[in-house]
Amino acid sequence: MQQVIAKCPFCAQLLTLQEDMIGTVVRCPVCNNTLTITANLFPQTMPKPPNPSQPPSYYDYRNSPEVKTYLIPSILVTLGCCVPLGIAAIYYAAQVKSHLASGNYNSAVKASDNAKFFCWLSFGAGIFIAIFAYSLRK
Ligand SMILES: [Zn+2]
Repeated sequence: MQQVIAKCPFCAQLLTLQEDMIGTVVRCPVCNNTLTITANLFPQTMPKPPNPSQPPSYYDYRNSPEVKTYLIPSILVTLGCCVPLGIAAIYYAAQVKSHLASGNYNSAVKASDNAKFFCWLSFGAGIFIAIFAYSLRK
């Protein structure tokens, strides 16, 4: 329980007050005047404004940069380019979502990088196959 030294408003006598006396009426032992204990007499117990610069005590992955799942490009390269590499990209894209859902941000970033890698690999393989198929037609 917090204690403060407050001045009697009538005779300036220093009085020892306790926090649970807020709202009660006490009689000054020196001047015999009654005074109502208010929260104003407890300056250090006044509610402090929240500090906006205070970082949250828990790690909130939602405040981290957004992790791309590469799900849409994964599906596109699967349909249009190279199916096995595209399926690998879809696999990692799905991992990104499940890692994010479980709050595992670092694993989500790794899976996102893998999905991106397989997207480009599938895209490159698709172009290579297209050029190869085109050259065979001659
Ligand atoms: Zn007094």
